[in-house]
Amino acid sequence: MFLATPDLGLLPAAMEKEMLLTSFTVEFSHADCCRNKGQALRCLARLDQNVSEALPYLNAVLGGYTYIKEPPLLTFHYSQGKLITVDADSIAINCVKNPIEAQEILTWLQQEINVAWENRGEITPKYTAAPWPKPADILRFLPKTDCGRCGLSTCTAFACLAAEGGMSEVDCPALPPNARKELATYLSRFHFDE
Ligand code: SF4
Repeated sequence: MFLATPDLGLLPAAMEKEMLLTSFTVEFSHADCCRNKGQALRCLARLDQNVSEALPYLNAVLGGYTYIKEPPLLTFHYSQGKLITVDADSIAINCVKNPIEAQEILTWLQQEINVAWENRGEITPKYTAAPWPKPADILRFLPKTDCGRCGLSTCTAFACLAAEGGMSEVDCPALPPNARKELATYLSRFHFDE
């Protein structure tokens, strides 16, 4: 760990009363390996409030990639291959460009947690993970020429990343229009968070 930023998530006192998550402290460390160029930090937000009871509701809203009931833990994919893990008292983001991007994601997620908790009376809590696309299924739509024009060395690598939400039909310039449309239709069946 080399940087700690206190109270990045602090909200005005007037709002704190209605919110489950009101403040957190953020730490960063160097990411050992990153698929996305220029993104080299891991982010860990230590939450000042316990959000475990909100996680089944957040899972219902965001469509978690994995969900563990006890102890409660939710992971989901954010844009550009980022993996976000939320448990009772922390939020971890595997890869961010800089503290500003981390702050934007954490602010968004803080709001998602608070809104899910506030609206829990209208949300059916979900204790299982959402269905997720399979790399083998995605590969069926790709040219399988391993041309590298997408920036990855193989179509299989593309399929694996697309299955995590890090790539989509627009990122393969070699896709014929029909296959592009079919891949878009397939991916649209799943819940990716932007
Ligand atoms: S651009 Fe398309 S065809 Fe070429 S390697 Fe990437 S996924 Fe495969």
